[in-house]
Amino acid sequence: MTGRIHLLDTRLANQIAAGEVVERPASVIKELLENALDAGATQIDIQVEEGGTRLIQIRDNGGGIDRDDLPLALARHATSKISTLEDLDAVATLGFRGEALASIASVSRLTMTSSTDDSGVGWSVHTEGRDMEPVLSAASHPRGTTVAVRDLFFNTPARRKFLRTVNTELGHLEEVVRRLCLFNFQVGFRLTHNGTLRWQFRPAPDEAEQRRRISTLCGQAFMDAATPLLVETHGLSLGGWLGSPSVARGQADMQYFYVNGRVVRDKVVTHAIRSAYSDVLAHGRHPAYVLFFELDPAAVDVNVHPTKHEVRFRDQRVVHEFLARTIHRALAGLKTVALTPETQ
Ligand code: ADP
Ligand code: MG
Repeated sequence: MTGRIHLLDTRLANQIAAGEVVERPASVIKELLENALDAGATQIDIQVEEGGTRLIQIRDNGGGIDRDDLPLALARHATSKISTLEDLDAVATLGFRGEALASIASVSRLTMTSSTDDSGVGWSVHTEGRDMEPVLSAASHPRGTTVAVRDLFFNTPARRKFLRTVNTELGHLEEVVRRLCLFNFQVGFRLTHNGTLRWQFRPAPDEAEQRRRISTLCGQAFMDAATPLLVETHGLSLGGWLGSPSVARGQADMQYFYVNGRVVRDKVVTHAIRSAYSDVLAHGRHPAYVLFFELDPAAVDVNVHPTKHEVRFRDQRVVHEFLARTIHRALAGLKTVALTPETQ
């Protein structure tokens, strides 16, 4: 049956849009962590209950949100990060679509408390699903923001049905946290699940501390045999750690490739790395790596997909060549080291 065409009411539109961005607790945590990082936080505490289905709470010490901006932050297409189409061509922040909080708020009970100074006084806004107007109240909070998301999908039973076991959801969620901890070394992170501490990382400005963090997140075996890398040329830079062939895996499950601070999966990238590893890796084995690729934000389009896992390089050929050549050279060095007994 069809009726006359009408515009959807805003909150229903948000709930539909939430389907694109909020698939499970892990997607909520990704959006909230990206917001905390965009706000310049140096310490982020994550508290999760029941795999994130009961509670996801993120507290940061970033710039905070003004009282008047709090309800606006929950509105769709409300962002402080871009204002013009030109800005969209060179996005430097992790977020920019201005729809994550609106989407999350439409399918959960959300409380956001924030303060922009050190007076200890802040404001809090609370919503319960799509049918409720935001309620604003005074609250005490140090400089920064706490977002608590309770009872995810409480008002969308069809979506709730797709949630997996607590352990599965926790696994997805930890993978999101791992990805962000592996890049944002200037930030301290703490993750607890049902009151138990899972990870705690101090800010890691120096390499020794970074290695410790990577060991915890990717395993001692990976770190012990990894080749560090840092090459810069013609505005392209590649840093990070290449896993040795000895820690290659049966699955492509330890491949962390960051483009300007964002983990992406990209065919051009995967192909370039595969080909660089092809002489040192047995067929069917997958290399492990943590790599940070930086280039002019204007040379890459991140607005390809709502979850921003995909990118489009303006000049794929140049990127492919740079990655393949740089990694191949680093691995060639590794091969000589591995084959020369004197150096062991
Ligand atoms: P986006 O990140 O794409 O701008 P969001 O819906 O995730 O959209 O957030 C909306 C706005 O709320 C942001 O642009 C930002 O101004 C503000 N905001 C959200 N989370 C935080 C936070 N943790 N600290 C400071 N400001 C925040
Ligand atoms: Mg955001």
